[in-house]
Amino acid sequence: MQVVIYSAKKYEREYLKKYNIYNYDLIFVEQNLSLKTTELAKNCIGCCCFITDDLSEKVINRLAEIGVKFIALRSAGYDHVDLSAAKANNIAVMRVPKYSPQSVAEFAAGLILVLSRNIIKAYTNGLKHNFSLDPLLGFNLYHKTVGIIGTGNIGSVFARIMNGFGAHLLAYDPIKNEECEQYGVEYVSFDRLLRESDIISLHCPLTQETFHLIDSQAISKMKNSVMLINTGRGGLIDTTSLIKYLKNGKIAYAGLDVYEKEKGLFFQDCSNKIINDDEFLTLQNLSNVLITPHQAFFTTESIQNICQTTIENINSYFQGNHLNVID
Ligand code: NAD
Repeated sequence: MQVVIYSAKKYEREYLKKYNIYNYDLIFVEQNLSLKTTELAKNCIGCCCFITDDLSEKVINRLAEIGVKFIALRSAGYDHVDLSAAKANNIAVMRVPKYSPQSVAEFAAGLILVLSRNIIKAYTNGLKHNFSLDPLLGFNLYHKTVGIIGTGNIGSVFARIMNGFGAHLLAYDPIKNEECEQYGVEYVSFDRLLRESDIISLHCPLTQETFHLIDSQAISKMKNSVMLINTGRGGLIDTTSLIKYLKNGKIAYAGLDVYEKEKGLFFQDCSNKIINDDEFLTLQNLSNVLITPHQAFFTTESIQNICQTTIENINSYFQGNHLNVID
């Protein structure tokens, strides 16, 4: 009953061991899953992966040849998994659908406040003993219009938080969430949300349909000086268009916890590497852009919940009642 845990970080090992009350034989490996590291799954019935792991068709086919029967994801998002390859190989893919929507929603609110009140500028100027208020003029969230794209688990918590600030809330989601209506959310068309929002926050999954949802056409419909927040997935935004509109001031602020080409960059120390991504370096150099390394989920509560649910998912596979399987 061996299960290999790829990309295992110290903070996850502790909780996975704690919640492994069923005594499954967990093999922790630091390496990411890739074609080169599939051999580490030999003799394992399942493998447990993070979003940095390669779950492309080739890798999944190889895992199937080795005898892997399930993949337990330590994430909610599964846009990095070739689900058809998994299905074709009869490999069950499980995920952690709702580990702590508060962690991501609170972080999105944090990005908004840091940008709207120039908190980083205040801190860095202060380190140089420049305590002038002139460059720090911000704006209230009270009575601003916040547009929420995707009102599932995270988007609905974000709506509650923004309601607390007294913001007017618009949302676009093909499926209405009744809970959101109690926070004063008004469901509108995508175009109306773009036209009327002062702040737009992305909380929908990355799918074929939502890839580059925010492209040049969408941005051109937005209010001048809009703030764009992305804690969803990098691929939701066309980076080239984002840069163009940040440079001409149409987008006044961007808070990005995810980035289209974050693979090979985020979740690791690149401080001694040359970063060969001019668009990323351009974004980093824009003073109205705040980039964080896909950390919105990263709270103690999230890690505990991810590990506990992952163990329950693994156990459910062995019990035959398959929890949280992605169809
Ligand atoms: P969820 O499934 O509960 O909600 C997603 C919502 O998006 C659903 O209501 C769905 O109807 C809606 N949606 C689907 N297609 C849409 C479209 N075209 N336009 C508008 N809305 C659409 O998911 P969640 O738990 O709220 O998570 C949302 C996303 O956040 C995840 O898919 C993941 O990519 C991302 N996420 C990021 C982090 C992070 O650390 N930055 C952590 C967890 C999740």
